[in-house]
Amino acid sequence: MIDVTLESVSKRFARGGDTAAVDDVDITIAAGEFFTLLGPSGCGKTTTLRMVAGFYFPTSGRIRFGAEDVTRRPPNKRDTGMVFQNYALFPHMSVAQNVAYGLKIRKVNRAESRRRVEEALGQVHLGGYGDRRIDELSGGQQQRVALARALVIRPKTLLLDEPLSNLDAKLREETRTEIRRIQKEAGTTGIYVTHDQAEAMAMSDRIAVMQSGRVQQIGAPQEIYHRPATSFVARFIGRSNVLTLPVLAGTAQTVTVGLPGGGEIVVPAPADHGLSQGETALVSVRPEHIGLTATTEPGALPGRVTELEFTGMATNLVVDTAGEQVQVAAVDVPAGITVGDQVGLRLNRERMWVVRP
Ligand code: ADP
Ligand code: MG
Repeated sequence: MIDVTLESVSKRFARGGDTAAVDDVDITIAAGEFFTLLGPSGCGKTTTLRMVAGFYFPTSGRIRFGAEDVTRRPPNKRDTGMVFQNYALFPHMSVAQNVAYGLKIRKVNRAESRRRVEEALGQVHLGGYGDRRIDELSGGQQQRVALARALVIRPKTLLLDEPLSNLDAKLREETRTEIRRIQKEAGTTGIYVTHDQAEAMAMSDRIAVMQSGRVQQIGAPQEIYHRPATSFVARFIGRSNVLTLPVLAGTAQTVTVGLPGGGEIVVPAPADHGLSQGETALVSVRPEHIGLTATTEPGALPGRVTELEFTGMATNLVVDTAGEQVQVAAVDVPAGITVGDQVGLRLNRERMWVVRP
């Protein structure tokens, strides 16, 4: 286990045009941490992970494992275990032969190899499966073999690129808990790539949210959920309304904004918001943090229901307030409310947050 540092790392591909696939990324991952790169398809997650693994070299910037500069070191000299989306197992070989592969390359002797394969299979709860053929295993079991194969070399870092994508939803949820347990027990530094925000939240110690090759925010799941840095992060993690509102006043930790249809509200803001009267603020508020009232009561935001969808756990509504389409997820909807009705929205100012564009 070792800490991993990316310093101003960029990657441009020869045939990638003018845009950088990874653009000036700074990340420090602590030894033993489960760290996730999260973002939509094409945002540069795989490219970043492959630079950590050594399959790509950065166009500029440095990568360190501990104090050592590994920027230009080949993959087989980095002590990294890698797990891919498609597992990349050898179908004609047994489970044990697959797991032993990395040891064979490293010329580990047979007795030691057998012992370590059994140990790795134990770590992924597949003890006794060594003689099975790969095609006799379920998708979830094949996934664990791929994990065992990565772990058997006792890597300092375990790199996982969307390893759950080929599993069905239920198995994906079970396996994500397993992967975190295995990473912690193996005592390795885990770097995980996914486009699935729920997966990232459930598994990670910290998350880097990426967009268009750049890191938008790094933080613990709760921090990213409750205090998104940008409107992109607010919308990408869960769902969020990002309202554009006029600034009436700003203090060190708050911004007072005007509401559509009159009224004002004091919203918590990051210390560096820099907003003052006359400017506009972007304010994030999640659909589940907006209350619904049947009639327009004082202090509530007046609006008209334009969409309504019952999902069982909650009712999702879209409410038009002076031209802003506000999403609301209400557990209790006043009886009889339908599309076209006038309603009031109660904003929970404690749960609102000023974000950057
Ligand atoms: P992600 O894993 O987040 O989906 P990638 O890291 O695979 O994203 O890709 C980031 C960007 O770099 C994309 O625009 C992709 O098309 C481009 N890209 C990735 N690999 C190559 C390559 N070998 N050559 C040229 N462009 C590439
Ligand atoms: Mg990818």
